[in-house]
Amino acid sequence: MKGIGASPGIAIGKVIVKKDPKIELEEKKIKDVQAEIQKLKDNLIKSQNEIKIIYEKTKKNIGEEEAKVFAAHMMILEDPEMCGQIEAKIEEDQVNAEWAVKEVAEMFIEMFKSMDNEYMRERAADIKDVTGRVIRNLLGVKIIDLSNLEEEAIVVAEDLTPSDTAQMDKVKVLGFVTKIGGRTAHSAIMARTLGIPAVVGIGQEFESIKSGDNLVFDGKEGIVFVNPEEEVLNKFREKKKEFEELTEKLKTFIGKESKTKDGIKVELSANIGTPNDVDSIVKNDGEGIGLYRTEFLYMDRERFPTEEEQFEAYKIVAQRMEGKPVVIRTLDIGGDKDLPYMDFPQEMNPFLGYRAIRLCLDRKDIFKTQLRALLRASAYGNIKIMFPMISSIEELRQAKKVLEEVRIELRKEEVCFNEGMEVGMMVEVPAVAIMSDVFAKEVDFFSIGTNDLIQYTTAVDRGNKDIAHLYNQFHPALLRLIKIVIDNGHREGIWVGMCGEVAGDPKMIPLLIGMGLDEFSMSPASILKARWIISGISKQAMEEKAQKIIKFATAEEVKRELEKVQIS
Ligand code: PEP
Ligand code: MG
Repeated sequence: MKGIGASPGIAIGKVIVKKDPKIELEEKKIKDVQAEIQKLKDNLIKSQNEIKIIYEKTKKNIGEEEAKVFAAHMMILEDPEMCGQIEAKIEEDQVNAEWAVKEVAEMFIEMFKSMDNEYMRERAADIKDVTGRVIRNLLGVKIIDLSNLEEEAIVVAEDLTPSDTAQMDKVKVLGFVTKIGGRTAHSAIMARTLGIPAVVGIGQEFESIKSGDNLVFDGKEGIVFVNPEEEVLNKFREKKKEFEELTEKLKTFIGKESKTKDGIKVELSANIGTPNDVDSIVKNDGEGIGLYRTEFLYMDRERFPTEEEQFEAYKIVAQRMEGKPVVIRTLDIGGDKDLPYMDFPQEMNPFLGYRAIRLCLDRKDIFKTQLRALLRASAYGNIKIMFPMISSIEELRQAKKVLEEVRIELRKEEVCFNEGMEVGMMVEVPAVAIMSDVFAKEVDFFSIGTNDLIQYTTAVDRGNKDIAHLYNQFHPALLRLIKIVIDNGHREGIWVGMCGEVAGDPKMIPLLIGMGLDEFSMSPASILKARWIISGISKQAMEEKAQKIIKFATAEEVKRELEKVQIS
């Protein structure tokens, strides 16, 4: 079967299908009340033990603060009020334990939901989560915890959320295959950052894969074989070996400069989602961070991160990068990224809706907390700040105004921050690319977000499998916009980078060199290959090629011409 190659690498292993089971509960009359109460008690203890393990693990791997929510979950299971009511229900109504749990939980959830206090309302989600676990245990239904697999496996799922991907145990998860999603879906991006091979969007054929099947796939080509014949298996073993050899060869580029044959230096930076990803930058010799997607800090928990929590995360990253540039993007939520604890409006077109800077300018409380944390962390390294999804100059000015308000507050409080911190913006909306001459006068840098720029320029949803063939990085319209942005940026004396997936695309890199891009930010795992490509081309030759390519009518011609580029 064929899907979309989302993260390169060859995976060979046994399948584990991650399906969240649909549970339909029925009310059943029971005879032996005492036995049912005992069953309840046993499963409350079982659930408690499970949560305790998650608590300990989170505390050790992520942090005390993040682990607190699981301590709260354990307390719910010890609550005599709720547990007493469940037992009473079993006894009085002579019903099955899972039904009693559901009924009592629903009552408590409604009660908490209707409270005025936001903190109390959030507890409703906790009760739902915990009692869901108890019910699954009572029914003997297992769910798969990707951070804690018993043995190595290839995960197959309908879809994976970015936090599913972020939690994956990199040692046990050999790769993953999903039914839906595109190359720039956030789970795919996370896979590349973590260096886990992945194929997404295999469609309907997903249904035929079962846990325990043998599976091999190529995360670059998107080819998947279920229970392959020996011959296919051998071919994949061979490919795996080649992939590993190439990885070894690229290691010789560690410590080298990112310079073309005619001596033009560019910066090769990394995209990250969490402070843990810095390890991968160090391993792959990244020269900075061109995009820190801060939204994962908001997604991996059950409430907004506090200023202090954010400050710590940004500070750690800045310190670990030891003075190298760290471009931190302000919250880019909405679109395909939502928060479990925030109500997003139901929208016909979430990617054109209430997201990113639009949401931040509407919810200044959230925005200011982040800006305070960012400015405070700027005292500890070379942090630059970047606004996502700007679509008009008014929006940029408003965002800068809020930033200035925060600066004034901090000065009053005599809190240290870098007064000279660079402030840039993403160029991911065509309106901005076209008017980039105007924007360039009001920011310190541009970073082109091709993931969104392609979808908005060509009106092709980046995550829709059925039109994935139309989502094309070689589209001449995209190339023209990129060129406009680079030229306008340079005319105003600012640097222009790119943090969309195109920046790490081996075919596009020579063209971008020819167009004059200054900084390339990509998955850490792509950096050494990019350096190898750049060292093997001359900027002058690529400039001439770029002038020719930009006039082409079709994406196919662009692709063919780029395939001819020799790396030597
Ligand atoms: C982009 O749109 O290119 C980008 C880098 O942002 P994201 O993928 O997070 O939307
Ligand atoms: Mg974007």
